[in-house]
Amino acid sequence: MALLLLRERPDLRVVILEKSTSFPRRVGEATVEVSSYFLSRVLGLTQFLNETQLAKQGMRFWFANEHVQKLDESSEIGGRYLARLPAWQVDRSTLDEEVLRRAAAAGAVLHRPAKAIRVTLKPGGLQVIDWQSSEAPDRPAATPLRARWVVDASGFSCLLARQEGWFQRNADHPTTACWARWTGVQDWDSHELAQRFPQWSAACQGIRATATNHLVGDGWWAWCIPLKGGDYSVGVVFDQRRVEWSRDSAPLGVRLKEFLCAHPVGREMFAHAEPVAGDVKWRANLAYSSRHYAGDGFVLVGDAAAFLDPFYSPGMDWLSYTVTRGSQLILAGLRGEPVKPLVDRHNRDFTQAYERWFAAIYQDKYDWMGDFELMSVGFQLDLSLYYIGVVSQPVKQGGAALLQPVFSLPPSEGPYRLMRLYNRRLASMARERRRRGRFGRRNDHQRFLLNGFLPDNSTGRAVLTGLRHWLMLELTEGWRTWFRARTAGATK
Ligand SMILES: Cc1cc2nc3c(=O)[nH]c(=O)nc-3n(C[C@H](O)[C@H](O)[C@H](O)COP(=O)(O)OP(=O)(O)OC[C@H]3O[C@@H](n4cnc5c(N)ncnc54)[C@H](O)[C@@H]3O)c2cc1C
Repeated sequence: MALLLLRERPDLRVVILEKSTSFPRRVGEATVEVSSYFLSRVLGLTQFLNETQLAKQGMRFWFANEHVQKLDESSEIGGRYLARLPAWQVDRSTLDEEVLRRAAAAGAVLHRPAKAIRVTLKPGGLQVIDWQSSEAPDRPAATPLRARWVVDASGFSCLLARQEGWFQRNADHPTTACWARWTGVQDWDSHELAQRFPQWSAACQGIRATATNHLVGDGWWAWCIPLKGGDYSVGVVFDQRRVEWSRDSAPLGVRLKEFLCAHPVGREMFAHAEPVAGDVKWRANLAYSSRHYAGDGFVLVGDAAAFLDPFYSPGMDWLSYTVTRGSQLILAGLRGEPVKPLVDRHNRDFTQAYERWFAAIYQDKYDWMGDFELMSVGFQLDLSLYYIGVVSQPVKQGGAALLQPVFSLPPSEGPYRLMRLYNRRLASMARERRRRGRFGRRNDHQRFLLNGFLPDNSTGRAVLTGLRHWLMLELTEGWRTWFRARTAGATK
């Protein structure tokens, strides 16, 4: 945000308060096409990313049922070849450090470690920020900062939203995550695995290890993300209504490993892996939003504004939209344009984007993500529509496309309704499959390998194929639930 503001107005005085002395290796490591566009082409970090991070090779999913004992028996969804558009697996400790360094080099005044304590908002006036600095411990208490605009980029701390009572937990989506950085994860592309499972190895001509590999189960998924240097970020996210996390007294890292190794692919990949000491994290109730995203004098960006779900890695996409639009709002205000209509539109667009993004993609997703057949249909539709409707926008229009968050413009109405519908229907079919003991029946010995998508109309064929497969499912089994009232998500 500081970089974007200073790029357009180098005369601005921008002050950054960062409470950490250095950035830890936090989550937010897989970029996708939109966040990669923002980091590489908008912020200009392509060379830095190439030199210091790993090129990402899409997403892969691994399923299990009672017929899966070995790696090559697990049904797989993923790319057959390398990805078509750039994305990276990033170590946030080095990436965030570089972004902050560039902001300071562009002229922002950085106080670090310095913590914002409270913001007194004054619409249209000067905002007052109380802060504490331990840059020089013997210095008298920091005098409050006064600024026409304050940007809350405090992440999950949600400084402003919590202070002002705007923070709202998403009660329809009770998810929890447990994660760590790991050493000793098996190399997915190793000679040893290729020798033991030659057909499995030959099925993918790309690189499996640098994808985001997902283990999936009933009501949960786990990510496995490689980081430059050899460590992996591995964690589990589960729907609290569907998964009971072990309550025994073993350390969290031990329970995390046990959970992962209960999946046959997890057993193969993590048998000799260990979490890095002191790096095991736990967070409940991941999804939340704010009742306000901007006002005359403040803007909320990134996680300080809202968070949906880590599945499909939308966190930094949301960050890209909130930062791009937020900086334009501030610049317009500083030019003397009337702020109220801009703020009203900002709040309307981001409220709608959050609600629709959730309803179209995430609501009740954990009901069906663990079934290979349903996930093959849903994943193909989700991804091809993301390419056609979302990824294609910055490709066609450049960075200005990031001014308009997903699902906030009228042409997105049809795709939104379609996505919400098939996600609901796949969830209903999953519940019915579970009731009839048929959930996950094709989680073994299947492979759904895609050739990759392009951000243009050629991807329309993948949408049509996905729709045809969905229709087939409706005709063969979906009819059982056509007239059944929708029960609350994740009923067992
Ligand atoms: C389990 C999990 C997995 C995820 N995986 C992905 C993924 O693969 N890809 C993806 O795109 N997203 C992912 N996300 C989301 C991603 O982590 C966030 O969207 C992203 O990090 C948000 O960045 P941010 O800058 O808004 O917040 P943060 O990265 O949290 O940064 C906030 C900064 O504010 C500082 N700060 C906080 N309070 C104060 C204060 N009072 N004063 C001064 N400084 C303060 C902090 O020190 C920190 O540096 C994941 C999230 C979770 C929970």
